[in-house]
This record gives sequence, C-alpha cells and structure tokens, in this order.
Amino acid sequence: MNVIRDIVDFFLPRTCHICGCQLRDSETTFCVRCVENMPRSLYHLMPMNPMEQRFAGIVPFVRATGHFIYSRNSELAGAIHDMKYRKFPSVGRRLGEIVGSELNMSAFFEGADCVAGVPMHWSKRVRRGYNQAEYIAEGVGLAVGLPVIDVLEAVRAHKTQTAMTIEQRRANLAGSFKIKDTAKLKGKGLVIVDDVCTTGATLRTLSEMIVSEVPDCRLYLLSLCVTV
Ligand SMILES: [Zn+2]
Repeated sequence: MNVIRDIVDFFLPRTCHICGCQLRDSETTFCVRCVENMPRSLYHLMPMNPMEQRFAGIVPFVRATGHFIYSRNSELAGAIHDMKYRKFPSVGRRLGEIVGSELNMSAFFEGADCVAGVPMHWSKRVRRGYNQAEYIAEGVGLAVGLPVIDVLEAVRAHKTQTAMTIEQRRANLAGSFKIKDTAKLKGKGLVIVDDVCTTGATLRTLSEMIVSEVPDCRLYLLSLCVTV
C-alpha cells in the first residue's frame, strides 16, 4: 500500500490545503504547522462557555461548544469556504477528525451515543453536490468512535440567512426540520454537528424540534467554528 502511495505522491504530490507544502505520510489534508495554527476557542475546557451561554435556558443540552474561532479572511475561513462551496468536502471530514480527537481528550462526549450533521434540504444538496455538515460529522464520529446516524431531515428549503437577525432567522427556519425515525433517538445522547455558528439560530431551531419530539434525547451541540 505504501509503495502505491509513494508512486501516487511522486506524480501527484499531496499538498497542505492551506499552505500548499508537500504533506508527510502522517499528515492528511493539512500539514502539522497549519493544524497547530488554527485558532482554538478552548470553550470545552470552560464551565458555561460562551457557546453554552447562547443556548442556556432556551434548549436543554448536555454540552455545547464551537471549536475554532471563525474570523473572515483567515486561513481557516478560506478552508471552510472551500469545504462549503468549492467541492472540497474532505476538508470537512479532516476538520471534524481534528475537532473530535481534541474534544475527546476532555469528557466532552461522555454519555453520547451517536452523531448527526445538521441536515440540508435536497434542493440545496443537489446544487452543492453534498452536505458539508455530514462530512464534519463523519470525521467527528471516526475520531471519537461514535456511529453517524441518518435520522434528521430538512423538509423545507429556506432563504440564505447571512443578512438576517436571529429572530428573522428563527422565523425563516420554522418548520424546516423533521426526525425520520424518533425511535432511534429515544433515550440517546446525540451530538449535532454544524459548520459555523453565528447566531445559533439553526442549532436552536433543530434542538427545539428534537426535544419536543423526543424529550429524553440528550443533546450535545458541536459547531466546527464559532464567531465571537
Ligand atoms: Zn500547511
């Protein structure tokens, strides 16, 4: 296998998605230096962290965090943009692995049973070709050793939310999500994975729907990035 990989690397060298340097055998998608330079929030080490404050008293959850700090024009923002819009879903899987393994060093996932990405409506999925949140969820699941389950569904397409306030976003999202099979979530700890958390409206709407349908489902809200 390594011989084949060496031959492939010779003709098609694997390069870091951020700095473009040639990757070593032990590196995937990003070089060690670029991974080290990604801005961590370290929220998971703080009791009632800023991400948990966003949801406290609104939806019940076990833990919540946004792992990387998102700022426009950063190297990480470039990678996130490629992941979402330029057909590089594998960037999402790798970032999910990094986040999953770093959070797993703390007790973040204690009591969690399964992972699911924030669902995307089929019409958007057809346009984009994939749902990046599923790839991030896959990476998290791989790193943590939890199964990724296909249980959430986006049943209504909604408008782009970039310029909306949280209340406008919430109205825009109302009735957007559905559970395909509530039995799969009964009594379970579900990690919901999103890409970038700005107002928290998506995670909030989705969580409210889940706990109203399956009150004994315990939620872990995990966003790859968070804005501050
Ligand atoms: Zn690099």
